Amino acid sequence: MNKDMRPKQYLYWEQLMEHLHGDTSVFFSENFVYPRQLEIHLPGNHNKACLLGCSHCAGRYFQKDLGTWELDGLEILNKLKGKVPYHIYGGAYTEPILNPYFLTYLATTKRHGNHFGIHTSGIFLDEMENKFGFLTELNRISTDNIDYLSISLDAGSSKSWQKTKKGKEEWFDGIIEGLRKAVRIREKAGKGHAIRVCYLMFEGNESLEDIEKICTIVKDLKVDSLRFSIPFAHYNQDFDTIRRYKNKKERPYSKIFEERLEPFLSKSQNERPYIFYTGPEFTDIDKFSFNKCIYSYYQITFGADGYYYRCSTTATPTMKMCRLGKIDSDIEKFHQLMSKNMNNTWNANICFSKGARCNRMGLEINLAYQDLETKFDSFNGVDCVRATNLAALSKNSLSDWRMIEIESPGFLPDGL
Ligand code: SF4
Repeated sequence: MNKDMRPKQYLYWEQLMEHLHGDTSVFFSENFVYPRQLEIHLPGNHNKACLLGCSHCAGRYFQKDLGTWELDGLEILNKLKGKVPYHIYGGAYTEPILNPYFLTYLATTKRHGNHFGIHTSGIFLDEMENKFGFLTELNRISTDNIDYLSISLDAGSSKSWQKTKKGKEEWFDGIIEGLRKAVRIREKAGKGHAIRVCYLMFEGNESLEDIEKICTIVKDLKVDSLRFSIPFAHYNQDFDTIRRYKNKKERPYSKIFEERLEPFLSKSQNERPYIFYTGPEFTDIDKFSFNKCIYSYYQITFGADGYYYRCSTTATPTMKMCRLGKIDSDIEKFHQLMSKNMNNTWNANICFSKGARCNRMGLEINLAYQDLETKFDSFNGVDCVRATNLAALSKNSLSDWRMIEIESPGFLPDGL
Protein backbone atom coordinates (compact mmCIF):
# COMPACT_ATOMS: atom_id res chain seq x y z
CA MET A 1 0.00 0.00 0.00
CA ASN A 2 2.77 2.44 -0.87
CA LYS A 3 0.65 4.57 -3.18
CA ASP A 4 -0.09 8.01 -1.76
CA MET A 5 -3.83 7.85 -1.10
CA ARG A 6 -4.08 11.23 0.60
CA PRO A 7 -6.89 13.48 -0.58
CA LYS A 8 -5.96 16.96 -1.75
CA GLN A 9 -6.61 18.49 1.68
CA TYR A 10 -3.48 16.65 2.80
CA LEU A 11 -1.16 17.79 -0.02
CA TYR A 12 0.56 20.64 1.76
CA TRP A 13 3.15 21.75 -0.78
CA GLU A 14 0.43 22.06 -3.39
CA GLN A 15 -1.63 24.10 -0.96
CA LEU A 16 1.30 26.43 -0.35
CA MET A 17 1.91 26.82 -4.07
CA GLU A 18 -1.74 27.55 -4.63
CA HIS A 19 -1.59 30.21 -1.91
CA LEU A 20 1.53 31.78 -3.46
CA HIS A 21 0.19 31.41 -7.03
CA GLY A 22 3.18 29.21 -7.78
CA ASP A 23 5.63 32.07 -7.21
CA THR A 24 8.61 30.63 -5.37
CA SER A 25 10.58 33.84 -5.83
CA VAL A 26 8.89 35.21 -2.70
CA PHE A 27 10.81 32.86 -0.39
CA PHE A 28 13.19 34.94 1.71
CA SER A 29 12.80 37.92 -0.62
CA GLU A 30 12.11 41.53 0.36
CA ASN A 31 8.46 41.14 -0.65
CA PHE A 32 6.15 40.54 2.26
CA VAL A 33 3.46 37.91 1.79
CA TYR A 34 0.88 36.76 4.29
CA PRO A 35 1.08 33.11 5.30
CA ARG A 36 -1.65 30.72 4.21
CA GLN A 37 -3.00 30.13 7.68
CA LEU A 38 -3.13 31.13 11.30
CA GLU A 39 -2.91 28.23 13.73
CA ILE A 40 -4.78 29.34 16.79
CA HIS A 41 -4.27 27.42 20.04
CA LEU A 42 -6.96 28.75 22.36
CA PRO A 43 -5.91 28.31 25.99
CA GLY A 44 -8.40 25.63 27.14
CA ASN A 45 -10.66 26.91 29.90
CA HIS A 46 -7.72 28.77 31.48
CA ASN A 47 -7.52 26.22 34.28
CA LYS A 48 -7.14 23.08 32.20
CA ALA A 49 -5.53 22.68 28.79
CA CYS A 50 -7.58 19.57 28.04
CA LEU A 51 -9.77 17.13 29.93
CA LEU A 52 -8.32 13.98 28.40
CA GLY A 53 -5.05 12.16 28.99
CA CYS A 54 -4.19 10.53 25.67
CA SER A 55 -1.00 8.52 25.89
CA HIS A 56 -0.11 9.62 22.35
CA CYS A 57 -0.67 13.37 22.98
CA ALA A 58 2.04 15.19 21.00
CA GLY A 59 2.46 17.67 23.83
CA ARG A 60 2.91 15.13 26.58
CA TYR A 61 6.38 16.43 27.44
CA PHE A 62 5.53 20.11 27.00
CA GLN A 63 5.19 22.80 29.62
CA LYS A 64 1.50 23.69 29.28
CA ASP A 65 1.05 27.35 30.15
CA LEU A 66 -2.32 28.98 29.52
CA GLY A 67 -2.62 32.72 28.90
CA THR A 68 -5.60 35.07 28.70
CA TRP A 69 -4.89 36.78 25.38
CA GLU A 70 -8.09 35.97 23.48
CA LEU A 71 -9.38 39.57 23.17
CA ASP A 72 -6.04 40.75 21.76
CA GLY A 73 -6.04 37.82 19.35
CA LEU A 74 -9.55 38.72 18.18
CA GLU A 75 -8.46 42.29 17.59
CA ILE A 76 -5.61 41.04 15.41
CA LEU A 77 -8.07 38.93 13.36
CA ASN A 78 -10.29 41.99 12.92
CA LYS A 79 -7.35 44.19 11.93
CA LEU A 80 -6.10 41.60 9.44
CA LYS A 81 -9.48 41.90 7.69
CA GLY A 82 -9.29 38.45 6.15
CA LYS A 83 -5.78 38.66 4.69
CA VAL A 84 -4.76 35.24 6.02
CA PRO A 85 -7.27 32.89 4.40
CA TYR A 86 -7.34 29.87 6.72
CA HIS A 87 -7.70 29.80 10.51
CA ILE A 88 -6.98 26.44 12.09
CA TYR A 89 -8.17 25.86 15.64
CA GLY A 90 -6.31 23.12 17.46
CA GLY A 91 -3.48 22.90 19.94
CA ALA A 92 -0.05 21.57 20.77
CA TYR A 93 -1.46 20.67 24.19
CA THR A 94 -4.89 22.31 24.33
CA GLU A 95 -8.47 21.44 23.44
CA PRO A 96 -10.15 24.38 21.64
CA ILE A 97 -13.69 23.34 22.47
CA LEU A 98 -13.12 24.18 26.16
CA ASN A 99 -12.41 27.81 25.47
CA PRO A 100 -15.16 30.35 26.21
CA TYR A 101 -14.21 32.44 23.13
CA PHE A 102 -14.27 29.52 20.69
CA LEU A 103 -17.45 30.39 18.79
CA THR A 104 -16.57 34.10 18.83
CA TYR A 105 -13.31 33.23 17.05
CA LEU A 106 -15.07 31.02 14.51
CA ALA A 107 -17.60 33.74 13.79
CA THR A 108 -14.77 36.29 13.38
CA THR A 109 -13.03 33.95 10.94
CA LYS A 110 -16.19 33.74 8.82
CA ARG A 111 -17.04 37.43 9.21
CA HIS A 112 -13.85 38.27 7.31
CA GLY A 113 -14.48 35.68 4.59
CA ASN A 114 -11.87 33.18 5.81
CA HIS A 115 -12.16 29.45 6.28
CA PHE A 116 -11.95 27.57 9.55
CA GLY A 117 -10.52 24.17 10.41
CA ILE A 118 -11.24 22.64 13.81
CA HIS A 119 -9.23 19.85 15.43
CA THR A 120 -10.96 18.57 18.55
CA SER A 121 -11.59 15.44 20.57
CA GLY A 122 -15.30 16.15 20.04
CA ILE A 123 -16.30 15.73 23.67
CA PHE A 124 -19.26 17.96 24.53
CA LEU A 125 -20.25 18.64 20.89
CA ASP A 126 -23.56 16.93 21.49
CA GLU A 127 -24.08 18.73 24.78
CA MET A 128 -23.15 22.07 23.23
CA GLU A 129 -25.68 21.49 20.48
CA ASN A 130 -28.39 20.57 23.00
CA LYS A 131 -27.66 23.51 25.25
CA PHE A 132 -27.03 26.36 22.84
CA GLY A 133 -27.19 25.05 19.29
CA PHE A 134 -23.43 25.05 18.73
CA LEU A 135 -23.43 22.64 15.78
CA THR A 136 -26.38 24.39 14.16
CA GLU A 137 -24.56 27.71 14.41
CA LEU A 138 -21.31 26.20 13.17
CA ASN A 139 -23.11 24.93 10.11
CA ARG A 140 -24.92 28.23 9.59
CA ILE A 141 -21.72 30.31 9.54
CA SER A 142 -19.77 27.81 7.40
CA THR A 143 -19.85 28.61 3.71
CA ASP A 144 -18.70 25.38 2.09
CA ASN A 145 -16.82 22.17 2.71
CA ILE A 146 -13.46 23.92 2.78
CA ASP A 147 -14.44 24.75 6.36
CA TYR A 148 -13.99 21.57 8.36
CA LEU A 149 -14.58 19.90 11.69
CA SER A 150 -12.08 17.14 12.42
CA ILE A 151 -12.64 14.78 15.33
CA SER A 152 -9.70 12.87 16.84
CA LEU A 153 -11.68 9.79 17.83
CA ASP A 154 -9.01 7.06 17.98
CA ALA A 155 -11.37 4.25 18.95
CA GLY A 156 -14.17 2.06 17.68
CA SER A 157 -15.92 1.49 21.00
CA SER A 158 -16.41 3.26 24.32
CA LYS A 159 -14.17 0.72 26.02
CA SER A 160 -11.16 1.26 23.79
CA TRP A 161 -11.88 5.01 23.73
CA GLN A 162 -11.68 5.14 27.50
CA LYS A 163 -8.45 3.18 27.46
CA THR A 164 -6.94 5.36 24.77
CA LYS A 165 -8.10 8.79 25.88
CA LYS A 166 -8.50 8.40 29.65
CA GLY A 167 -11.83 10.21 29.58
CA LYS A 168 -15.18 9.07 30.89
CA GLU A 169 -16.39 6.01 29.01
CA GLU A 170 -19.78 7.57 28.26
CA TRP A 171 -18.16 10.51 26.42
CA PHE A 172 -17.59 8.24 23.42
CA ASP A 173 -21.32 7.93 22.78
CA GLY A 174 -21.65 11.71 23.14
CA ILE A 175 -19.02 12.23 20.42
CA ILE A 176 -20.80 9.84 18.05
CA GLU A 177 -24.11 11.56 18.78
CA GLY A 178 -22.48 14.95 18.15
CA LEU A 179 -21.20 13.69 14.79
CA ARG A 180 -24.63 12.31 13.93
CA LYS A 181 -26.23 15.67 14.67
CA ALA A 182 -23.59 17.59 12.70
CA VAL A 183 -24.28 15.43 9.63
CA ARG A 184 -28.07 15.77 10.02
CA ILE A 185 -27.83 19.53 10.39
CA ARG A 186 -25.76 19.69 7.21
CA GLU A 187 -28.18 17.47 5.33
CA LYS A 188 -31.09 19.63 6.38
CA ALA A 189 -29.30 22.87 5.48
CA GLY A 190 -28.15 21.44 2.14
CA LYS A 191 -24.67 22.93 2.71
CA GLY A 192 -22.00 23.19 5.32
CA HIS A 193 -18.55 22.32 6.59
CA ALA A 194 -16.76 19.02 6.02
CA ILE A 195 -16.84 16.45 8.81
CA ARG A 196 -13.75 14.29 9.24
CA VAL A 197 -12.78 11.58 11.70
CA CYS A 198 -9.20 10.65 12.62
CA TYR A 199 -8.04 7.39 14.17
CA LEU A 200 -4.52 6.95 15.57
CA MET A 201 -3.79 3.22 15.84
CA PHE A 202 -1.69 1.52 18.48
CA GLU A 203 -1.86 -1.34 20.96
CA GLY A 204 -5.26 -1.07 22.59
CA ASN A 205 -7.45 0.18 19.75
CA GLU A 206 -5.99 -1.69 16.78
CA SER A 207 -8.07 -4.87 16.91
CA LEU A 208 -10.00 -6.06 13.88
CA GLU A 209 -13.13 -5.66 15.97
CA ASP A 210 -12.43 -2.00 16.64
CA ILE A 211 -11.59 -1.34 13.01
CA GLU A 212 -14.79 -3.00 11.84
CA LYS A 213 -16.81 -1.03 14.36
CA ILE A 214 -15.42 2.38 13.47
CA CYS A 215 -15.82 1.72 9.73
CA THR A 216 -19.45 0.73 10.29
CA ILE A 217 -20.02 3.83 12.44
CA VAL A 218 -18.59 6.33 9.94
CA LYS A 219 -20.52 4.74 7.07
CA ASP A 220 -23.70 4.87 9.09
CA LEU A 221 -23.06 8.49 10.10
CA LYS A 222 -22.09 9.51 6.54
CA VAL A 223 -19.17 11.68 7.53
CA ASP A 224 -16.77 12.74 4.77
CA SER A 225 -13.65 10.83 5.71
CA LEU A 226 -11.89 8.55 8.14
CA ARG A 227 -8.12 8.69 8.34
CA PHE A 228 -6.11 5.97 10.05
CA SER A 229 -2.50 6.63 11.03
CA ILE A 230 0.16 5.72 13.60
CA PRO A 231 1.06 8.19 16.36
CA PHE A 232 4.45 9.79 15.82
CA ALA A 233 6.91 9.94 18.73
CA HIS A 234 6.28 12.68 21.28
CA TYR A 235 7.99 16.02 20.77
CA ASN A 236 10.74 17.19 23.13
CA GLN A 237 12.83 14.06 22.64
CA ASP A 238 16.18 13.69 20.90
CA PHE A 239 16.41 12.22 17.41
CA ASP A 240 18.06 8.99 18.61
CA THR A 241 15.09 8.25 20.86
CA ILE A 242 12.72 8.99 17.99
CA ARG A 243 14.71 6.75 15.67
CA ARG A 244 14.43 3.92 18.19
CA TYR A 245 10.65 4.48 18.26
CA LYS A 246 10.62 4.38 14.47
CA ASN A 247 12.43 1.03 14.38
CA LYS A 248 10.62 -0.53 17.32
CA LYS A 249 7.09 0.71 16.75
CA GLU A 250 6.40 2.66 13.57
CA ARG A 251 7.95 0.31 11.03
CA PRO A 252 6.73 -3.05 12.33
CA TYR A 253 3.28 -1.77 13.32
CA SER A 254 2.76 0.09 10.08
CA LYS A 255 3.23 -3.15 8.17
CA ILE A 256 0.74 -4.98 10.37
CA PHE A 257 -1.81 -2.16 10.33
CA GLU A 258 -1.60 -1.71 6.57
CA GLU A 259 -2.44 -5.36 6.03
CA ARG A 260 -5.22 -5.30 8.59
CA LEU A 261 -6.77 -2.16 7.16
CA GLU A 262 -6.53 -3.14 3.50
CA PRO A 263 -10.06 -4.60 3.15
CA PHE A 264 -11.62 -1.54 4.78
CA LEU A 265 -9.93 1.19 2.76
CA SER A 266 -11.65 3.09 -0.03
CA LYS A 267 -10.70 2.22 -3.56
CA SER A 268 -11.50 5.64 -4.93
CA GLN A 269 -11.39 9.17 -3.56
CA ASN A 270 -14.96 9.65 -4.72
CA GLU A 271 -16.23 7.27 -2.04
CA ARG A 272 -18.02 8.79 0.96
CA PRO A 273 -16.84 8.35 3.60
CA TYR A 274 -13.38 8.22 2.11
CA ILE A 275 -11.42 5.79 4.33
CA PHE A 276 -7.64 5.96 4.02
CA TYR A 277 -4.38 5.32 5.83
CA THR A 278 -1.33 7.56 6.11
CA GLY A 279 1.86 5.79 7.13
CA PRO A 280 4.77 7.02 9.26
CA GLU A 281 6.72 8.02 6.15
CA PHE A 282 5.06 11.45 6.40
CA THR A 283 6.83 12.15 9.69
CA ASP A 284 9.94 10.03 9.14
CA ILE A 285 12.75 11.16 11.47
CA ASP A 286 15.34 10.31 8.81
CA LYS A 287 13.96 12.93 6.46
CA PHE A 288 14.97 15.90 8.60
CA SER A 289 17.97 16.67 6.44
CA PHE A 290 17.30 20.34 5.66
CA ASN A 291 18.34 23.49 7.47
CA LYS A 292 16.05 26.10 5.88
CA CYS A 293 12.49 26.49 7.12
CA ILE A 294 9.81 27.99 4.88
CA TYR A 295 6.88 26.73 6.93
CA SER A 296 6.52 30.38 7.93
CA TYR A 297 4.92 30.99 4.50
CA TYR A 298 2.33 28.37 5.30
CA GLN A 299 1.42 29.42 8.85
CA ILE A 300 2.15 31.37 12.02
CA THR A 301 0.92 30.12 15.40
CA PHE A 302 -0.88 31.83 18.25
CA GLY A 303 0.41 29.77 21.19
CA ALA A 304 -1.88 28.96 24.11
CA ASP A 305 0.56 30.65 26.49
CA GLY A 306 0.09 34.04 24.81
CA TYR A 307 3.09 34.13 22.43
CA TYR A 308 3.38 33.94 18.66
CA TYR A 309 5.46 30.93 17.62
CA ARG A 310 7.24 29.89 14.45
CA CYS A 311 5.08 26.81 14.13
CA SER A 312 2.40 24.81 15.87
CA THR A 313 4.62 21.97 17.10
CA THR A 314 6.90 24.40 18.90
CA ALA A 315 4.10 26.47 20.47
CA THR A 316 4.98 25.82 24.11
CA PRO A 317 7.21 27.53 26.66
CA THR A 318 9.35 24.37 26.42
CA MET A 319 10.44 25.64 22.99
CA LYS A 320 11.11 29.25 23.92
CA MET A 321 13.68 29.57 21.12
CA CYS A 322 10.75 29.49 18.65
CA ARG A 323 8.87 32.38 20.26
CA LEU A 324 8.46 35.38 18.00
CA GLY A 325 6.86 37.81 20.48
CA LYS A 326 3.96 38.33 22.84
CA ILE A 327 0.41 38.37 21.46
CA ASP A 328 -1.14 41.81 21.78
CA SER A 329 -3.46 43.94 19.69
CA ASP A 330 -0.69 45.75 17.76
CA ILE A 331 -1.08 44.78 14.10
CA GLU A 332 2.12 46.52 13.01
CA LYS A 333 4.08 44.46 15.48
CA PHE A 334 2.33 41.35 14.18
CA HIS A 335 3.38 42.26 10.64
CA GLN A 336 6.97 42.63 11.81
CA LEU A 337 6.84 39.26 13.54
CA MET A 338 5.49 37.55 10.43
CA SER A 339 8.42 39.05 8.47
CA LYS A 340 10.83 37.95 11.17
CA ASN A 341 9.44 34.44 10.82
CA MET A 342 10.26 34.42 7.10
CA ASN A 343 13.95 34.65 7.72
CA ASN A 344 16.68 32.95 5.73
CA THR A 345 19.07 32.94 8.67
CA TRP A 346 16.84 30.82 10.92
CA ASN A 347 18.38 27.36 10.98
CA ALA A 348 15.99 24.44 11.39
CA ASN A 349 18.69 22.61 13.35
CA ILE A 350 18.07 25.02 16.22
CA CYS A 351 14.70 23.26 16.53
CA PHE A 352 16.03 19.76 15.96
CA SER A 353 18.81 20.10 18.54
CA LYS A 354 16.29 21.09 21.21
CA GLY A 355 13.82 18.24 20.65
CA ALA A 356 11.49 20.19 18.36
CA ARG A 357 10.67 18.98 14.88
CA CYS A 358 8.28 19.81 12.04
CA ASN A 359 4.83 18.30 11.76
CA ARG A 360 3.70 16.50 8.57
CA MET A 361 3.00 19.79 6.85
CA GLY A 362 6.28 21.43 7.81
CA LEU A 363 8.28 18.37 6.83
CA GLU A 364 6.66 18.07 3.40
CA ILE A 365 7.07 21.78 2.66
CA ASN A 366 10.64 22.09 3.90
CA LEU A 367 11.68 18.98 1.97
CA ALA A 368 10.06 20.34 -1.19
CA TYR A 369 11.93 23.60 -0.72
CA GLN A 370 15.21 21.75 -0.22
CA ASP A 371 14.49 19.89 -3.43
CA LEU A 372 13.80 23.15 -5.19
CA GLU A 373 17.03 24.67 -3.88
CA THR A 374 19.00 21.66 -5.07
CA LYS A 375 17.52 22.03 -8.54
CA PHE A 376 18.21 25.73 -8.43
CA ASP A 377 21.85 25.08 -7.54
CA SER A 378 22.18 22.51 -10.30
CA PHE A 379 21.08 25.19 -12.75
CA ASN A 380 23.96 27.41 -11.50
CA GLY A 381 21.57 29.86 -9.93
CA VAL A 382 19.73 30.89 -13.06
CA ASP A 383 17.04 33.19 -11.71
CA CYS A 384 14.48 32.46 -14.38
CA VAL A 385 14.09 28.92 -13.04
CA ARG A 386 12.64 30.36 -9.86
CA ALA A 387 9.87 32.05 -11.81
CA THR A 388 8.25 28.78 -12.55
CA ASN A 389 4.61 27.77 -12.65
CA LEU A 390 2.34 25.87 -10.31
CA ALA A 391 2.09 22.74 -12.41
CA ALA A 392 5.83 22.37 -12.63
CA LEU A 393 6.43 22.88 -8.94
CA SER A 394 4.57 19.78 -7.92
CA LYS A 395 6.82 17.68 -10.14
CA ASN A 396 10.20 16.33 -9.19
CA SER A 397 12.44 15.20 -11.98
CA LEU A 398 14.61 17.13 -14.39
CA SER A 399 12.45 15.92 -17.25
CA ASP A 400 9.51 17.66 -15.61
CA TRP A 401 11.56 20.82 -15.52
CA ARG A 402 12.25 20.42 -19.21
CA MET A 403 8.46 20.49 -19.64
CA ILE A 404 8.51 24.06 -18.39
CA GLU A 405 10.64 24.98 -21.36
CA ILE A 406 8.21 23.29 -23.73
CA GLU A 407 5.21 24.97 -22.11
CA SER A 408 6.93 28.30 -21.55
CA PRO A 409 9.86 28.73 -24.00
CA GLY A 410 12.66 30.88 -22.65
CA PHE A 411 12.44 29.79 -19.04
CA LEU A 412 15.55 27.67 -19.10
CA PRO A 413 18.99 28.64 -20.36
CA ASP A 414 20.31 27.11 -23.56
CA GLY A 415 21.25 23.49 -23.30
CA LEU A 416 18.91 22.59 -20.45
S1 SF4 B 1 10.04 22.71 13.90
FE1 SF4 B 1 10.24 22.67 11.67
S2 SF4 B 1 8.56 23.93 10.89
FE2 SF4 B 1 8.80 24.39 13.09
S3 SF4 B 1 10.13 26.22 13.10
FE3 SF4 B 1 11.42 24.40 13.37
S4 SF4 B 1 12.11 23.88 11.29
FE4 SF4 B 1 10.35 25.25 11.09
